[in-house]
Amino acid sequence: MTDRRGFLCAALLATAGAGTALARAPLGAAAPRQQRPRFTSDPFALGVASGYPLADGVVLWTRLAPNPTLIDDDLGTDDIEVGFEIADDPGFTRLLRGGRTRAEARHAHSVHLELRGLPSGREFFYRFRAGDFTSAVGRSWTAPARGMTAERLRIALASCQHYEQGYYHAYRDMLARGTDLIVHVGDYIYEGNTERPVRQHDRGECRTLAAYRLRHAWYRTDPMLQAAHAACPWMLTHDDHEVDNDYAADQAEDPADQDGFRARRAAAYRAYWEHMPLPRSALPRGADMQLYMSRSVGSLLALHMLDERQYRSPQACSTPPRRGGSRVYLDTCPQWHDESRTLLGERQERWLDRGLRGSTARWNLIAQGVVMTQLDEDPGPRERYWNDAWAGYPAARRRLLESISRSGCANPLVLGGDIHAFIVADQRVRPTDMASPIVTSELVTTSVSSGPPPQRVIEAYNRGDSPDVLLADGAHRGYLHLTVTQQRLEAGLVGFDSVRELQAESRVLARFAIEDGRRGLQRA
Ligand code: FE
Ligand code: CA
Repeated sequence: MTDRRGFLCAALLATAGAGTALARAPLGAAAPRQQRPRFTSDPFALGVASGYPLADGVVLWTRLAPNPTLIDDDLGTDDIEVGFEIADDPGFTRLLRGGRTRAEARHAHSVHLELRGLPSGREFFYRFRAGDFTSAVGRSWTAPARGMTAERLRIALASCQHYEQGYYHAYRDMLARGTDLIVHVGDYIYEGNTERPVRQHDRGECRTLAAYRLRHAWYRTDPMLQAAHAACPWMLTHDDHEVDNDYAADQAEDPADQDGFRARRAAAYRAYWEHMPLPRSALPRGADMQLYMSRSVGSLLALHMLDERQYRSPQACSTPPRRGGSRVYLDTCPQWHDESRTLLGERQERWLDRGLRGSTARWNLIAQGVVMTQLDEDPGPRERYWNDAWAGYPAARRRLLESISRSGCANPLVLGGDIHAFIVADQRVRPTDMASPIVTSELVTTSVSSGPPPQRVIEAYNRGDSPDVLLADGAHRGYLHLTVTQQRLEAGLVGFDSVRELQAESRVLARFAIEDGRRGLQRA
């Protein structure tokens, strides 16, 4: 127990002192000195990252890119040797491990170092070296072993961060508030530009590997985003904009883009993998990427990351000539309730069902990209729903909720994003039947920087038609900050009035909590 408490206190201190952790420190004498290659500028301009912690390891990431925002930042076709060091302290006086790995040319000279064999439940620091350059120092941790207790874990939930629409104050704020793990549920990049940009990256819609790589690199030059990747491990899933707005599996949004869409998806997935601290198990094969994955933190929690975009059926009854997202009147859409329509795909549904049934964790967090709450947007007698989210896949939503309910897993909670608004709501298998039990709850985070949702959508959530909707707020950018202990999960909705300026102050707009063993969110 003392060890575990030590782990989490150390994590708290290190997060509070993130500035120190990020400072560059000279390499100790133990580091291998390399004569080649020679870089004329810092090859670590995109920073460092870690992700997907296990009880004995984690994925460490960097990508060599001395000129990341130039399309011809070409390091050649050879792999490049990269040194790494793992230490107990940010000054690297107590080395745990050191060695060499490779930045592979075919993966845009990214490094995905899957460390194993580290002690459980430990905080550590890491850095890379290439040529005469040393990277920033990153901080990460290994999870407590299964069966061990962790006292507390603080998770920040993020989504929707259009670079041109605002600054990433949310990330600065997460570190200031203390965060052990960052979970991103999609729209990490946007494939296009914006009309009234706050700041600009390259122009045009991404379609090729080179274009997606360049876009990811632009995003990762942001200092607040870099600091957040260096400060703690991340887990991620994608939504649509990492590839193409509102695509569904193999279907492009625009029919004119359909030819060659699989190649485009393959390029986008590949650039995504290259820039994220993902394990090699997620390395795309062609246009397929195994992104759904679970991790647990001792007996405290299991985090199940889902992929709702890659395997889904096409959206039902979109307004022609559009495909993708539309607001649909149910009485005009015979296929809406088709049992064969899926959001996760059959394999992933089975995988999650097994994972939930086998879970011994106190909390079971299910993170995915879109809103689960099914809410009628029409104030009259007709029913109207947004067809890109779970509401548009009612059979899939029912199967997931039945799976959660049947599994008997402790304290399930769904985390989502996409809508650029906070939504806090309880979930029932039959959403309008208040006599049916609450199976789980949903916390949807607002956007980090992407613009607000249409006001009439938020009005629909706030009309009071459903007692299960506890809060809907589209007026703020920000993130969700979760504090998970054995007894309780507490969520703070952290909002900014605007992120279009270089200065911004955050505010906790509301707090909600779930007590261990209880269903349903309560205002805290
Ligand atoms: Fe978005
Ligand atoms: Ca989205």
